[in-house]
Amino acid sequence: MAQSSTMLPTPGSFSSAGSSSVQPGHGLDIEGVTHRFGEVTVLNQIHLQVEPGEFVALLGPSGCGKTTLLRLVAGFLTPTVGHIRIDGQRVEHIPTHKRNVGIVFQNYALFPHMTVFDNIAYGLRAQKAPASKVRSRVQEMLELVQLEQMGDRYPNELSGGQQQRIALARALAVKPRILLLDEPFSALDKNLRLDMQIEVKRLLTEQGITTLFVTHDQEEALSMADRIAVISHGIVQQFDTPTTIYDRPATLFVSQFVGTTNLIPGTLVQQDNRGCVVALTDGTQMELAVVPDLPLNSPVQLAIRPENLRLSPNPSAGAIAVTVDICLPLGASTIYEVRTASGLKMKVTQPRGAGGAALPTRTPLYLTLTSTEACSVFPIDDSAGE
Ligand code: ATP
Repeated sequence: MAQSSTMLPTPGSFSSAGSSSVQPGHGLDIEGVTHRFGEVTVLNQIHLQVEPGEFVALLGPSGCGKTTLLRLVAGFLTPTVGHIRIDGQRVEHIPTHKRNVGIVFQNYALFPHMTVFDNIAYGLRAQKAPASKVRSRVQEMLELVQLEQMGDRYPNELSGGQQQRIALARALAVKPRILLLDEPFSALDKNLRLDMQIEVKRLLTEQGITTLFVTHDQEEALSMADRIAVISHGIVQQFDTPTTIYDRPATLFVSQFVGTTNLIPGTLVQQDNRGCVVALTDGTQMELAVVPDLPLNSPVQLAIRPENLRLSPNPSAGAIAVTVDICLPLGASTIYEVRTASGLKMKVTQPRGAGGAALPTRTPLYLTLTSTEACSVFPIDDSAGE
């Protein structure tokens, strides 16, 4: 995290934000944003359009620029190049407290010397809202996060999950135009994290809040987000739904970063507008219903998810003979690590048969794709983001 511990959330404001031109857009638009710290470019030409009410995850490895992008939207930083619009309004030169954004950090950043009530009331009081309005809104927020009885407590008298709900209530109290979440679940233990993920998703969906959410946890992004922007080295590699990101990764980086993938080197030997043939190093030719759109004879990598491979005791046309190194039964499915004659290792996830019979692991097995579309083909030098 590049976030500093002194960076407290600045509650948003209802006030209008200066005289910037308002365009008939909605949600959040990040238009060609580049950000440099000195000579170092940490975000490069970012374009993202977040629809109103949409929940978008920024997913990428440590240092890829996720938090920097969130801080640009929050107003803690100003982009070196490009524009940011909230509900169609340019905000690059508008200070944080006038952007009307709600922010929840990893460590919740509640004010320790204030009660829960006062924490939630903070932004409303900063806006000089009348006391009766502050009281009713704080009560509404406490009910929303189901902590009605906790108004008089101090943050150190709450569990991690409760503190996080209060941080969310505080961010939502001022009716933000955008909610920014920076790894809000990473300090919670695994079981509580899942509960909170479900609860926060339900709450934000009900409230229709446009949300930008930073995480380096791919499962969290896949399960919670409407769309995911996969970022690597300051570049958006792909911005799409979780299903498309998983099933149709746009780059080798995305296919490796999201989910598990087997990479198999080969050469593109045929291609038309319906599919291609890739020759593997052991001479096997794989006919695929994907069009990589690369020059013939290009060296390529086949990226195949373990669940898109099948093992059989019986040879068939195009099947690759393998031996099993490791077999891990995992309840409803089994993971096999297999090896080809040329030494290539692959992981295969196989559902347990109806009768529950495991495959024989001491004799050669035969590996095929579940479908000719169930893989991706990337140029071998597609190392963007690695
Ligand atoms: P993490 O998941 O570890 O929090 P991140 O994807 O959020 O990582 P950022 O915090 O956005 O990454 O940082 C992106 C890059 O910018 C990193 O190389 C970081 O060292 C650098 N960086 C961040 N803040 C500053 C700063 N104030 N001055 C100089 N470099 C910075």
